[in-house]
Amino acid sequence: MSSKVVLITGTSSGIGLAAAVGAAKAGWRSVATLRDTSRADALRKAAADAGVELDIRQLDVTDPASVAAAIDGVINDHGRLDAVINNAGAGHLGTLENETVADVRQVMEVNFFGVLHVSKAALPHLRASGGRLITVTSVGGVVGQPFNEAYCAAKFAVEGYMESLAPVAAKLGVTVSVVEPGAVATEFVSNIGVDLEAEVAAAGPYADALQAYLDRTVSQFLSGAQSPAEAAESVLEALTADRPAFRIQTSDWARGFTGTKLTDLDGSAVLGLTNGWVG
Ligand code: NAP
Repeated sequence: MSSKVVLITGTSSGIGLAAAVGAAKAGWRSVATLRDTSRADALRKAAADAGVELDIRQLDVTDPASVAAAIDGVINDHGRLDAVINNAGAGHLGTLENETVADVRQVMEVNFFGVLHVSKAALPHLRASGGRLITVTSVGGVVGQPFNEAYCAAKFAVEGYMESLAPVAAKLGVTVSVVEPGAVATEFVSNIGVDLEAEVAAAGPYADALQAYLDRTVSQFLSGAQSPAEAAESVLEALTADRPAFRIQTSDWARGFTGTKLTDLDGSAVLGLTNGWVG
């Protein structure tokens, strides 16, 4: 059994919940954080079902004081921090003319600056432990997708930041990885909190393209979504492999999709694909 300590953000549901329980099952002291600890029932039940203990703490990635309190608390109580899994994130549906710049800023706050708040607070402790900094991004952090401009921009930003940080952090003994899921059957889509019919009705000249995008996306989710536990296995690979890759896709589909982009020198392969998603 390892006595290593991992802190995971956004563990009320989905991939974060599965990763927190999976890390505990793998012998880690698993610090499962949530922005609202009154929403920990599913997490507690999953831990009890798996026969593991979690250290459940409050952490809102958009609130630096909350981040500092959580990390300081872990160091006080456990004396070390060996890994962070930046998992918290939130989707957003919209396109430039139909959203405000404030909407886009909010998407960046959660998905990009939230990752920076946690990573910056954790890094001195990860340097001390020779630890790992893992971030759940998305295939949308590699391939831009219609009506996901703000979300993909935030995830691209995280990927660019972490790819740039990786060699610097490695010099100081910290391993940096990003984990890229495709569709995963979690609360992610319902947590976006929009009425899809109302969105289409309000989309003006974008209505047909949005409807076509939604039809395609719903059928992709119904036919091909991974379970949160499957996606979390790739997060645990980043946590436990001797030499994890920098970029880890969670499925063959995600590998094929991101692979299209990574060899697409002039952009025609990706746009050839995504043009077809909007009718
Ligand atoms: P999820 O079930 O909606 O989980 C997202 C988690 O993030 C929730 O626990 C949520 O907490 C938390 N969160 C949101 N804002 C937060 C904040 N300000 N501070 C702390 N926690 C916050 O969705 P998921 O699919 O497991 O998402 C996990 C990660 O995978 C995200 O980074 C997402 O972008 C990425 N991803 C998901 C998919 C997919 O298809 N599901 C695909 C690619 C990438 P609350 O319960 O309080 O809202």
